[in-house]
Amino acid sequence: MSKKIQAIRGMNDLLPSESNLWLALEETINQLLISYGYKYCRTPIVENTETFSRAIGEVTDIVEKEMYTWKDLSGESLTLRPEATAGIVRMMIEHNLPREGIQKVFYHGPMFRHERPQKGRYRQFHQVDVEVFGTYDAKIDAELIDITNTLWKLIGINNASLEINSLGSSETRSSYKKLLQNYFIDNKSQLDEDSLRRLTTNPLRILDSKNSEMEALIESAPKMIDHLDDESDEHFSAFKNYLDCLEIPYSINPRLVRGLDYYNRTVFEWISNDLGAQGTICGGGRYDGLVEKMGGNPTPAIGFAIGIERLVLLIKDQPNKLQKNKPHLYFVALGESAQTTSMKLSRDIHSAMPDIIITNDMSMGSLKNQMKKANKSNADFALILGEEELSNNQISIKPLKGQGDQQLIKLEGIIQHLQEIL
Ligand code: ATP
Ligand code: MG
Repeated sequence: MSKKIQAIRGMNDLLPSESNLWLALEETINQLLISYGYKYCRTPIVENTETFSRAIGEVTDIVEKEMYTWKDLSGESLTLRPEATAGIVRMMIEHNLPREGIQKVFYHGPMFRHERPQKGRYRQFHQVDVEVFGTYDAKIDAELIDITNTLWKLIGINNASLEINSLGSSETRSSYKKLLQNYFIDNKSQLDEDSLRRLTTNPLRILDSKNSEMEALIESAPKMIDHLDDESDEHFSAFKNYLDCLEIPYSINPRLVRGLDYYNRTVFEWISNDLGAQGTICGGGRYDGLVEKMGGNPTPAIGFAIGIERLVLLIKDQPNKLQKNKPHLYFVALGESAQTTSMKLSRDIHSAMPDIIITNDMSMGSLKNQMKKANKSNADFALILGEEELSNNQISIKPLKGQGDQQLIKLEGIIQHLQEIL
């Protein structure tokens, strides 16, 4: 036997048995975002490496060690997208969209990061990404929180908590960076290897460290929110006021800096306690300087990304909230002319009742054999078309779940009958 071919570690198949939940989840998310006035868009999975390195920042986990990058045949450096914002910003600039007014867009698709695979962390994973271009107003920051909060309710996530922080303006952040740098230089002996490296390149990221030995040191570090410029301070207050009026509880986490360079002012994360170390189900923030940095006109912007796999882990054992059970018929047909009639009749039922699932038996087996499969299929009813039924222009319908007897129905009345009972 030849050696079995396997998928790449950390890149998963979505099996048919699990896909209904994914489809229902995506449908719910789409409907919600469309109802808030957001428009779907789609960017390529592959972009020039520079799109990401410039947007995300050279000294970030993603760009330093997580990107799938290669040279294509023409020698260009290409990258599988590790996140969606950079590509969407590139799209906004390339098509001059912010000139047409405020842009509210959303997207979902696969992202790729070379991380150590574990529960809730994969090398190909899926995000819903929501971005707004063209407004500084804290009202939009709150609207994004409102949308995510509503989504958790719709899909049955009850214990996600919201953490927020403000990273101020880029000017105040650079003076804060110096302050922080000096604090860590004074305590250099307590820093781990990663943090020593970040000390010169990106000291803010030390706050993000998950090393428990550095916890006390980080806890006592100077806090960005104590050093905000007046405008950012006002913006943060307005944001918090909106959250209060929406009655959405939050806590302020001064250590929340997010992994990417491009954020300023509002940053936030939704965290669930049920996923261990992979608890962040949604992260986002404002990135007012990024469009300009990527070559566009100055345009304020804000967005977030939700990790779909983590949502699925949280709700897969309670899917009833999302999945509407569609009526399912199993069509048993005995003999050749019954096979052709059943095919045509299924087509007519489908066109009259688009929400019904029909499985046509393909085995040409005996009645007993086909009924066995009907029972196994989890269908609600079997439609049975045998020689005798056919010669009398009739069809039998048999409930497969619960009570009720088999009934003989006139062939031309079956659709009406189904519409009455389903
Ligand atoms: P983490 O701290 O868990 O590594 P992150 O800050 O790198 O997350 P973001 O870049 O903010 O994550 O991505 C937004 C969301 O995408 C995360 O909150 C998470 O739900 C999901 N996500 C990120 N990386 C992965 C991954 N490797 N596998 C599955 N989901 C992921
Ligand atoms: Mg990460």
